[in-house]
Amino acid sequence: MNRIVVKSPADGSVLGEVEPTPLEVIPSMVERAHRAAREWQETPLRERAEALRQLRRLLLKERAALAELVAREQGKPRVEALIVEIFPPVDMMTFLIYEGGHLLRPRAIRPKGPFMRGRTCTLQFHPYGVWAVIAPWNYPASIPLVQLVSLVFTGNAALVKPSPLTPLTGAFVVELFQRVNLPDGLVQLVQGGAPQGQALLEHPRVRGVIFTGSIPIGRAVAAKAAETNKKVILELGGKDPAIVLADADLERTARGIAWAAMVNAGQTCVSVERVYVERAIYEPFLHALQAELSNIRVGHPLDDETDMGPVIAPFQRDRVQAHVEDACAKGGRLLTGGKVLGELGELYYAPTLIADAHEGMLGMQEETFGPLVLVQPVADEQEAIDRANASMFGLTASLWTRDRQRAKRLAPLLECGAVTVNSHAVTFGDGYSSWGGFKDSGIGRTHGEFGLYELVQTQYISEIYTHKPELWWYPYSARLRRITDELMAWLAEPSLRMSLRAMRRFAPEMRYLTRHFSPLKAMPGFLRYMR
Ligand code: NAD
Repeated sequence: MNRIVVKSPADGSVLGEVEPTPLEVIPSMVERAHRAAREWQETPLRERAEALRQLRRLLLKERAALAELVAREQGKPRVEALIVEIFPPVDMMTFLIYEGGHLLRPRAIRPKGPFMRGRTCTLQFHPYGVWAVIAPWNYPASIPLVQLVSLVFTGNAALVKPSPLTPLTGAFVVELFQRVNLPDGLVQLVQGGAPQGQALLEHPRVRGVIFTGSIPIGRAVAAKAAETNKKVILELGGKDPAIVLADADLERTARGIAWAAMVNAGQTCVSVERVYVERAIYEPFLHALQAELSNIRVGHPLDDETDMGPVIAPFQRDRVQAHVEDACAKGGRLLTGGKVLGELGELYYAPTLIADAHEGMLGMQEETFGPLVLVQPVADEQEAIDRANASMFGLTASLWTRDRQRAKRLAPLLECGAVTVNSHAVTFGDGYSSWGGFKDSGIGRTHGEFGLYELVQTQYISEIYTHKPELWWYPYSARLRRITDELMAWLAEPSLRMSLRAMRRFAPEMRYLTRHFSPLKAMPGFLRYMR
């Protein structure tokens, strides 16, 4: 692969050149990471938490440099970069520092099964070892950071491959890990594109992959990872719906949806791309949303008065334009935007609102990933839920209503990984949440307790100290078959008649049974099976 020339989407200026990692050095990087992981997994959790404390402070101190780099390289406004690229990993680290220790501590289990009593059982959590983190360009700092801090806390090592569109931010992120007290090689940087990603996936010592990106590439990543039985977490695309109910606070809802549709120039996996509005408030809502979108100030990402910057590259702009043209050709009403703001540059696209959308439009089916929002009227809440769910995407969704009971009833009906009420796209910034999609939007979770457990292998340790052989050990015999059969007949029909029969049949076997276990102690376990 040739050197990567990094150009700013904001003004085309060259920000730097990056050498892709030669494929032949990747195996030795993986070996180094493996050695670092071995050392790191012996480190007590409180020391791992201390390393995250250092990292959290360092990240916060470096905020200005990181926000400026993201603004230049990726194109989101600097203030937005501070908010969306730095807060989420800070919150994630805070979750890990406060909650990670007790969640990962070995846990005593008291088995209740009749033959399991008398054992000492423990659940322990082990890291997998080396992971590949394959990252996208749209949140080039916060996505890999959230994943890397979780991997580091759980005792894993990682090789992170940023998108070739944002390699400088990727390098900045990895350098932060190298500046705190972590074993050499625990977090390493692989620059490049698909070949480097594939080289990581091919290596048998890489035991897990967190891939964040598009659905087709995610499928290819999972297929490749299956060849060496890697753990796979896929964080994929979205087509998030927002449902606006007739009792919503119109002004606040329009403001919230305008932000959630246009943040990062709409290049967010959880951008609001489809809005379903109850017909009673359809026109007033459109009016309010149009006003909000028209007020968005598009401009250079380093200008503090800019709300929205450029899209990342011509391919993004062209996809937005294609969805706009398709929607207009199919009866959509263009209320604002729908064009490149040529006076600013070829990648600045106006915030665009299309009303009277329907499911036949590309923009209602495929991920647009740009500053376009489509709005469709619906008769009632049921139609809104049905339409929101009629998609293979299922990342997040939002409900906009003043009625708490209604929200509580409707939220679980939405087929997606997170539902927000009267807000959107907040869950990534909440370290305590659960992040990940239903359906084609992904497999596995990051964030919170369930994200933490994705990164460790659970080990069950069951101990018994007795001279008695287990009942089911050799030699098998007709007697053991009779006893087992009788026991199961009794469990299948725990009537008085069968209980009396079982007592009669087991009485002569008591000496045999007590040679293996205590029938009396096992009794509560059997009673559980009957309930
Ligand atoms: P992409 O799929 O094009 O690329 C993602 C990463 O995969 C990049 O680092 C790329 O170099 C690498 N890659 C490409 N081909 C590969 C291959 N064959 N093997 C291994 N690696 C390969 O995605 P993108 O354009 O960078 O990101 C945008 C997409 O990511 C959107 O669909 C968006 O919705 C999604 N996304 C999802 C989440 C989430 O949390 N669910 C977050 C952000 C972005």
